[in-house]
Order: sequence, then structure tokens, then C-alpha cells
Amino acid sequence: MFAEPERTGYDLNFRLFGFPVRVHPWFWLVTLIFGANVFDPDRPEFILAWFAIAFVSLLVHELGHALAFRAFGVGSHIILYSFGGLAVPWDTLHGRWRRVAVSLAGPGAGFLLAAVVWATNQSAQWAGGAPVAAFAYIALLYVNLAWGAVNLLPVFPLDGGQVSQEVCLHFFRARGLRVALQISIGTAAVAAAYSLACMLRLPAVIDFLRQMPWWFPVGGLWTLALFGVLAYQSYQLLQQLNWTQSHWDN
Ligand SMILES: [Zn+2]
Repeated sequence: MFAEPERTGYDLNFRLFGFPVRVHPWFWLVTLIFGANVFDPDRPEFILAWFAIAFVSLLVHELGHALAFRAFGVGSHIILYSFGGLAVPWDTLHGRWRRVAVSLAGPGAGFLLAAVVWATNQSAQWAGGAPVAAFAYIALLYVNLAWGAVNLLPVFPLDGGQVSQEVCLHFFRARGLRVALQISIGTAAVAAAYSLACMLRLPAVIDFLRQMPWWFPVGGLWTLALFGVLAYQSYQLLQQLNWTQSHWDN
């Protein structure tokens, strides 16, 4: 579903810790769109900081996956594109719980980065200086905590969806994929409804958000569109599965 994007003449290619990394031009465009609210022509340092934060955060997330693959003896390459990335393994990774560990390693690496950012500011107070430093501090924490949390939702093809699939296959065997897809549809539908409630500023949601930590993801048009599409994709996959199984039975 999140297939590897085609190579283009505008790709940025480099190696990091031995992993080939390819940055697709969509990455810069989508980062710019997501950062539109920080774009101020008089303060270009904010948009530059935003690009650096999105780049580093996404790279750290994918490095988490890639290092976990490597720990299990499987090489991979990293692709950054739109607001997602991919760590594409060169071999099949055998072992259900190893695959779960690889899926969790991405958000885990982001949480670790957030912890490092928080701890360095606790000791050196670097975020209290220039406005751009304060912005970088908040944005780094928000991006890594909020995206990590969203990514852990049991929705295909997010990291949490991969974990959910492995866990369901373990517990429900032949019915596992069906159960995982049902969980995916339900969770994505709830996330879409929450996004809509955030957009409409329903009092219940505002009360709920007051009780949550400051970095708790606030929904909007983007998350509404994302989870709407993902709910529909999971629904289609479930229909295909039903079709295949009914024809198999015949
Ligand atoms: Zn991931």
C-alpha cells in the first residue's frame, strides 16, 4: 500500500551508517505544506528549522527500523518521501516477534530522540534563548511524540498496524488477518471522527484535550483525510479477503 516510490532525477542520495538513503522530492514539498503555518517571509530561519526537524525526525524513525533489521542480520535501505518514510529490507525477516520488534523500533527511536532533546534542554537550557531555538525544541518534541503515537495506532499500513497483524495472526491463526483488518477499520474510523470533532471544536473534545499532555495529537483536515483513506483501504482489503475465502471454500 505504501509502495516504494519511483526514482526521479531530483532524488537526494547518500549513505548513513552504511544504509543507502534516498530522499524523494515529494518529501520537501509535503514538509513545506505541513510547515505552512510556520512560514513567515521575514523569518526564514523558522522554515529552515522546520525542514531540518522534519528531515532529522523522519530519518531517525527509519533508522530505528533499519538498525533493528540489521540487528537481526537483514540489510535495508531508507527512503524519505511525503510525510512518511520506508526502511525496505533486502531479505525476508523470519520470526513474528522479530518483525514486531522492527515495527516498534521506528516509533521507539523517535521517542528516544524526544527524550534526548528534553534531557539536553534540562541540563543546558538551550531552548530558552533565540525564538527559533524555542520553536525547534517544541517542534522536535511534538513531531517525535505525536507522530510516534499516531504511528502506533493499529491501522494498516502504519507501524502499529503491522504489530496488530502479527499479534492477531499469533492469537487468531487463520482468522488473524480478518480480525486485524476489522481493528484497522474501527480504529481508523474513530481517528477520522476524532479529527472531525477537533476541526469542529466540539466542547467534549476540547475538554478531553485539556486532560491530555500538550503534545497529544490534535486532529485536523490532514488526519481526517489520512484516516478516511486508510479506513477505506482496510475495508477494501477485508472485502478481497472475504471474496478469496468464499471462492476458496467453493
Ligand atoms: Zn515506521
